[in-house]
Amino acid sequence: MQLVDALLCSEPGKLEIVRRPIPQPESGHALVRPRRVGICGTDYHIFEGKHPYLQYPRVMGHELAVEVIEAPGSSGLAQGEICVVNPYLSCGHCVACRAGKPNCCVHISVLGVHQDGGMAGILSVPADNLIPADGLTVDECATVEFLSIGAHAVRRAAVTSGDRVLVVGAGPIGLSVALFARLAGADVAVFDTDPERAAAAGSITEAHPISLAGAFAQSSGGDGFDVVFDATGNQQAMERGFDFVAHGGRYVLVSVIKDSITFRDPDFHRKEMTLFGSRNATSEDFTRVMAAIRGGHVDVARLITHRASLEDAVANIPIWAAEKSGLIKALIEID
Ligand SMILES: [Zn+2]
Ligand SMILES: [Zn+2]
Repeated sequence: MQLVDALLCSEPGKLEIVRRPIPQPESGHALVRPRRVGICGTDYHIFEGKHPYLQYPRVMGHELAVEVIEAPGSSGLAQGEICVVNPYLSCGHCVACRAGKPNCCVHISVLGVHQDGGMAGILSVPADNLIPADGLTVDECATVEFLSIGAHAVRRAAVTSGDRVLVVGAGPIGLSVALFARLAGADVAVFDTDPERAAAAGSITEAHPISLAGAFAQSSGGDGFDVVFDATGNQQAMERGFDFVAHGGRYVLVSVIKDSITFRDPDFHRKEMTLFGSRNATSEDFTRVMAAIRGGHVDVARLITHRASLEDAVANIPIWAAEKSGLIKALIEID
């Protein structure tokens, strides 16, 4: 039996390289070789044991640039073709799937979260979840998934030119929201408790960093923001965000937490606010992001700040999980 390497999170805090059999592709699946794997907050949470429903052991990895080894003839995918993976595997028949929202499928299974993902030598994925790179580099392909989360949130809120937008939280997801809100023509302010992170996000996305006092001044003294996005994963910040929304405005919760959040109904109603949850992304968002990269609107080189091989990731992931200063996106390179 042929074996390939996989980076296994066997239990919280424990990573190891294991040898695993090459997966047998199910019908409709393609066998692919992961070339780049982006690491994000979800992965650090899985490693740290902070992910609510995760079962161990788990091979992480959902931000994937892959090379096709073999694919069903009907897929039109050629051997050696580079693809982006849409890691949101949906059932195709539930109420959400029927409504064209596979990103919130009732039975969703996310590669690298609910089932083993791409930190491995070979992976079997549904061919329908592969999107040909069509000129994008492997590095660029590996950034498409996390950028799609922001693109989806911006599309949910139907951000248009002239909207005054506030993004709270300048991690990779907040950064992706700010980027696509800017590309939609909005005037974007970004706040983070770490001013350096806000400044970096501002410089990459052409949004302007704002202080908490500044955001409050614009809300209580001025009109507030037409659209507020939360990308903090912090309960207090999510609750405070309601205060920044303009009368008639929208509030989009992108990050997710385990706890309840509360808000004052009289304030919510007075403003006739619209509240959105934004979850994952769809192939439409992936295509939008890939077009933006192709069009030169995304400075991918500045997003990728750290790199390691699959073997070195065993030592590096714990360091990156603990020390986020200067870190935007770390990539595992498998060549
Ligand atoms: Zn991610
Ligand atoms: Zn479904």
